[in-house]
Amino acid sequence: MFDNLSDRLGTVFDRLRGRGALSEQEVRDAMREVRVALLEADVALPVVRRFIDAVTEKAIGAEVLKSVTPGQQVVKIVNDELVEMLGGEAVEGLNLDARPPVVIMMVGLQGSGKTTTTAKLAKFLKEKHGKKALMASLDVNRPAAQEQLAVLGEQVSVATLPIVQGQQPVDIARRAMESARLQAADVLLLDTAGRLHVDEALMAEMKAVAGISSPNEVLLVVDSLTGQDAVNVARSFTEEVPLTGVVLTRMDGDARGGAALSMRHVTGKPIKFAGTGEKLDALEAFDPKRVAGRILG
Ligand code: GDP
Repeated sequence: MFDNLSDRLGTVFDRLRGRGALSEQEVRDAMREVRVALLEADVALPVVRRFIDAVTEKAIGAEVLKSVTPGQQVVKIVNDELVEMLGGEAVEGLNLDARPPVVIMMVGLQGSGKTTTTAKLAKFLKEKHGKKALMASLDVNRPAAQEQLAVLGEQVSVATLPIVQGQQPVDIARRAMESARLQAADVLLLDTAGRLHVDEALMAEMKAVAGISSPNEVLLVVDSLTGQDAVNVARSFTEEVPLTGVVLTRMDGDARGGAALSMRHVTGKPIKFAGTGEKLDALEAFDPKRVAGRILG
């Protein structure tokens, strides 16, 4: 993850760091290289523009260029702006502040890792927060989707809603809420259906489910390997459903970084978790500072 971007930025900043003096032109030249590196990493153009403008403005300020370590100061400015771009302060987990069962709705396209992430979150809530969870799959489109969640539920020892064939998503959601209440579950995780593309039927279904379940959290699950596509998917979902956060999956892969770096700006919502593997404990709270540190090496 970020390897290429990290190498490219490393080359630019190694050169700057060693300098005892730096001219405005040299900063601008370095920023031109950073711009190309970010675009090649698939970061959305408006996000790149804003980043370069912010860094340039701060870096050519008199105090920086006249200081004894101008290169290092520029690198620090870049680091701070990267942290901002990734969302600033880490968002501590989930908002569970409501009368139980607190509903967490998982949305996203098919194959994004939604079902796996639902099980990972249930395990996380159980082990880290001591919460009793119930999971329900509302995916009636993909054959065996509901069974898949049941299998994962057994693996993480979290209850899943019994499957009733032929029920529609809104009815399953109603049954899940009733069941969560009866079982005195703290949290109800709704794994909604995904499709291959964003379409009207999918959005109408999301809205109907959100309408009856009043979720505390609506988490969009996106595959970080899909770069700009992930950002476009996020933009569509943001316009239609009240997202509260994003989970980026496959952060263990060799994604170029565009999705992670553009997501905050495009959705206005925090990246709350990163999926870092297929195993059900491969879920990390997303920490912008740590990720920026990793990018800058
Ligand atoms: P869904 O269609 O969105 O529900 O996707 P699934 O949860 O079925 O995931 C699709 C595939 O991606 C499965 O093989 C998962 O094991 C895998 N997967 C999910 N999250 C991650 C992740 O963070 N890293 C890796 N390497 N694989 C993941």
